[in-house]
Amino acid sequence: MSDSSWTPSSWRSKPAAQIERLRTQLTQVQNNRAFLLHAGDCAESFDACTHENISNKIGLILSFSLIVIWGARMPVVRIGRIAGQYAKPRSSPTEKIGDRVVMSFRGDNVNGLDPDDRTPDPDRMLSAYFHSTTTLNHVRSLLTSGFASLHHPKDWSLTHVRSPALREEFERITEGLSDALEFTRTIGLGKESLSYEQGGGRGALGEVDFFTSHEGLMLDFEEAMTREFAIPSSLASRSADADADGTRTPPPRAHYNTSAHFLWVGDRTRQLDGAHVEYFRGIRNPIGVKVGPSMQAGELVRLLDVVNPEREDGKVTLITRYGAGKVEECLPGQIRAVQESGHPVIWISDPMHGKLLNKLHWARDSTLTSSTGLKTRNFGTIISELTSALRIHAACGSRLGGVSLEFTGELADDGFSVTECLGGSMKLSEDQLPLRYQSFCDPRLNFEQSLDVAFLISDHFKK
Ligand code: PEP
Ligand code: MN
Repeated sequence: MSDSSWTPSSWRSKPAAQIERLRTQLTQVQNNRAFLLHAGDCAESFDACTHENISNKIGLILSFSLIVIWGARMPVVRIGRIAGQYAKPRSSPTEKIGDRVVMSFRGDNVNGLDPDDRTPDPDRMLSAYFHSTTTLNHVRSLLTSGFASLHHPKDWSLTHVRSPALREEFERITEGLSDALEFTRTIGLGKESLSYEQGGGRGALGEVDFFTSHEGLMLDFEEAMTREFAIPSSLASRSADADADGTRTPPPRAHYNTSAHFLWVGDRTRQLDGAHVEYFRGIRNPIGVKVGPSMQAGELVRLLDVVNPEREDGKVTLITRYGAGKVEECLPGQIRAVQESGHPVIWISDPMHGKLLNKLHWARDSTLTSSTGLKTRNFGTIISELTSALRIHAACGSRLGGVSLEFTGELADDGFSVTECLGGSMKLSEDQLPLRYQSFCDPRLNFEQSLDVAFLISDHFKK
C-alpha cells in the first residue's frame, strides 16, 4: 500500500542534517570546547580538480588537525575551503598585463586566467557546479574509505614531509595516537562510545567529520542553490508537537544554502546595505564574516544584529584579517564592542589577508607576466598576526577559537611541495620561489609550512 504522505518532493520537509550538525559543533568552539580549522586554497581551479590534489588537501587538513587535537587535547572542527571556492573578489575591476588592460580574473566560475579569456561566461557556473559535486564525491569517498582513519595517519602526509625534525615530531604524535587508540580498544571503548567529543569525529572511532565552505560571492549561483527545509524539531525554537487544542503546528522551516555547509561574506562585500548581507541574513547555515581593518566597532555590532538577530549560538564566526601591523590597533576594540553587545560569536584569525603581500618582480611564465609581478607572503608575518591574536584575546578575556589559512598539500611535478610563501622551518628563500610556484591566486603555505603552524597552535594550547 502506498504511503499517502509521500510525494516526490516530501523529502524537502525533512531536516538538513549536516548543516545543523556543523552549527552544533561550532557552538562547542564558541564554548571553548573545540578548535576550528578553516583551510584550503585561496581559489580552486577546474584544472586542479584531480584525485591527487584533493587527497593531498584532505591529508594536510587531517594532519594539521591531528597535531592540534594531540597537543590541545581538544576536538577540531574541520571546514575546508573546497568544493565550490571558485569565485574571487577583486580590489580592481581591471588589471594591466604587458601593455594591455584587461578585466581582472574573477575565478574559474566567471572568466579565465588566460588574458584572452576574460569575458564572463555564465556556462562557467554550470562547470563550477560539476566540479564542486565531483570534488565532494571524492572527499566523501576518501572519508569513508579508510584514508581518513585515525588508525593510519601516516598515509596522509609523511611522504611529503622532507624536514627530518618535522617528520620526527609528526611520527611521535602518530605513534602516541596509535597507542592511545590501542589502549581505548583494550579497555573496551569501541566505535559506539567514542564520540566527536573525544576528537574522533562522528561518533565512530577513526572516522572524521569534514565540512565544506566557500565565499558566498556569486549571489545568482547561491540563490539557485538555496532550498527551504524543515528545521529539526529538537533544534527549532518552536516545537512541532501537537498544540493544546489538538491541531498540529507544522515544523518551522528555514532556507538553507545547499552548495556548502558554511559560507562566508568577504571583506569587500560586507556592507550593511549591500546585496551580500541581504542574502546572508536569510540563510540558516552557519556563516563567516571577514573583518578587516576598515571595519568600525559599531558597524560590526550592527552587522551582527542583521545577520544574527536571534543571537543564536554557533551561527556567526568572525574571521579577523587586519594584518600583522594592525592587529594590535584593531582587535581589542572589536572584541570589546562584541562583548558589550552580548552577541555570541566565534573568533578566528585569518593571518593571511591583511596587507602583507609582497609583490615580486618575476613571473612564472609569459602569460602571467603582469606589471605588478607575482605575490608572496612571509611566514614570519603570518605567525606574527596569529600569535598577536592569541595574546590579545587572552588579555581581553576572550578566546581565539580557530584559524583560517590558505594552504595546500599540492605537490609540483617533481614531487616537492609548492614554493609560494617565504620562510618557515624549511627557510624558503626568495630565489627558491620560482621553482614551484603553482597558485594562480594568492600564495599558499605548503605542506611543511602548514605543519609548522599546526605545531605552534598545538604548543600554545598545551600550556
Ligand atoms: C579570501 O579569503 O580569499 C579573501 C579574498 O578574503 P578577504 O575577503 O578577507 O579579503
Ligand atoms: Mn585569498
